[in-house]
Amino acid sequence: MIEENYKNILNDIKQTNQAAGIPRLIAVSKTIPANSCEQLLRLNHRRFGENRIQEAEEKWPPLRKLYSDIELHLIGPLQSNKTKQAMQLFDVIQSVDREKIAALLAEQEQQQQKYLRYYIQINIGEETQKAGIAPLEAKEFVSYCRNDLKLNIIGLMCIPPATQASGIYFALLNKLASKCSLTNLSMGMSKDYRTAIAFGATDIRIGSALFGSRT
Ligand SMILES: *Cc1c(COP(=O)(O)O)cnc(C)c1O
Repeated sequence: MIEENYKNILNDIKQTNQAAGIPRLIAVSKTIPANSCEQLLRLNHRRFGENRIQEAEEKWPPLRKLYSDIELHLIGPLQSNKTKQAMQLFDVIQSVDREKIAALLAEQEQQQQKYLRYYIQINIGEETQKAGIAPLEAKEFVSYCRNDLKLNIIGLMCIPPATQASGIYFALLNKLASKCSLTNLSMGMSKDYRTAIAFGATDIRIGSALFGSRT
């Protein structure tokens, strides 16, 4: 079933005719066991997303021994006492969502002499319960991360409000990214990735449409 889902999604995104080109697929493997991830690895898929440090720590180091070119993305909230582990485990952190975390990541880069790629998470619907930088503060925050902290910020990420159509939020993220001179847009999940692609997504994060629903 995973293989069929994977091929269908790849086919789907290949049809896209956007200026940004064909988006990258991030297989969101949170709660999914390693053997299911291996099914995708055997199909030559290498880009995965996890939202919890501890789970990633158990699952991915053994898989990296088998496949050296895995690209692992952190897509969930990062606690300040976990930045060291995050830096060791991930290639890309998509959930940079506050000054304190950005500063700690910069510190870890120096300590570990390891340099990652980052996305700034934007609280695109300005929801009180959601993490992320407010849209109006995005430009200043991106410039702080780049100029003061020397972090390699490559794009913006968002999770739109669950109960509304996503299109206007994707359009807003796209506009914000241009204002910040950023080209990568991580937006779109199982239910709305086609819409996200239409609004210029360069990275789509898909879990349940690929692995089946999480129980
Ligand atoms: C779980 C998750 C996804 C994938 O969600 P699906 O609806 O299963 O595709 C994408 N992005 C983030 C940040 C997530 O936490």
